[in-house]
Amino acid sequence: MRILSSCTLCPRRCGTDRESGKIGFCGADNTIKIARCDLHFWEEPCISGKNGSGTVFFSHCSMRCVYCQNHKISHLGMGKTVSVSELADCFLTLSEKGANNINLVTPTHYVPQIIEAANIAKSNGLTLPIIYNSSGYENTETIKMLDGTVDVYLPDMKYFDDRYALRYSGAKNYFEIASRAISEMFSQVGKCVFDERGIIKKGVIVRHLLLPHLLFDSKKIIDYLFKTYGDDIFISIMNQYTPVATLPKAFPELGEKISEKYYNSLVDYAVKLGIKNAYIQEGETAKESFIPEFFGE
Ligand code: SF4
Repeated sequence: MRILSSCTLCPRRCGTDRESGKIGFCGADNTIKIARCDLHFWEEPCISGKNGSGTVFFSHCSMRCVYCQNHKISHLGMGKTVSVSELADCFLTLSEKGANNINLVTPTHYVPQIIEAANIAKSNGLTLPIIYNSSGYENTETIKMLDGTVDVYLPDMKYFDDRYALRYSGAKNYFEIASRAISEMFSQVGKCVFDERGIIKKGVIVRHLLLPHLLFDSKKIIDYLFKTYGDDIFISIMNQYTPVATLPKAFPELGEKISEKYYNSLVDYAVKLGIKNAYIQEGETAKESFIPEFFGE
């Protein structure tokens, strides 16, 4: 917890004294805020399964992408303040509801509190796999803190070319930082392991969301992941980009959805490379109705 007094949890390393209540670049202070804690059925099949994934959506975010699909919670910080023990209770409640796992969404800025809550929940009987679902923009030291707590890493790899990382997320050295973080994640949990129902127990799934006009950048990411990890990790290639009403006018190139043809050309590229372990999306997923509502559940 001492790290919060001069916070360097994420690559922004803004050094904010969150311990005394100051607010960092991510919007977080010394409290924990969550926007939703409920079963979620729209993750990859090995995560949601039939029972649903026990998701905890954390408020605030250290990335703050201009096209964020969860703007209310990431940029505006909507949510409820909870204590560490209440967070542990959330994990246990999700387990009682039959969740396949505990899925921590945008957790980076709360890592010390999450570790403490997970320890409390485990000592009270939590046995579900814990999934760390993040932007991929992570310090390796922070990921090292999670060794032994997290079973499944679910990072994004958003950009290959830093120009786009800077333009859309204000994130310096995104590719280098995310690739080092993913390497640390893989060294902790290794290859994917599934239970008899096909639900993931441990491993790494890297998500990549295809953005408008960035097919060439997406191909470089797929190349990198396959050359580095082969089929030891899963890649989730996503087509669900939705231009949201909060997209600033300065980014008109992001104002359209991804066409089926455009997305299929990325999937074909992955297939031609020889990738076998991947998830793809079919049908109409680019809808605001697939973005969860945040009513404080
Ligand atoms: S987690 Fe927040 S406060 Fe900490 S370094 Fe990152 S932006 Fe700054």
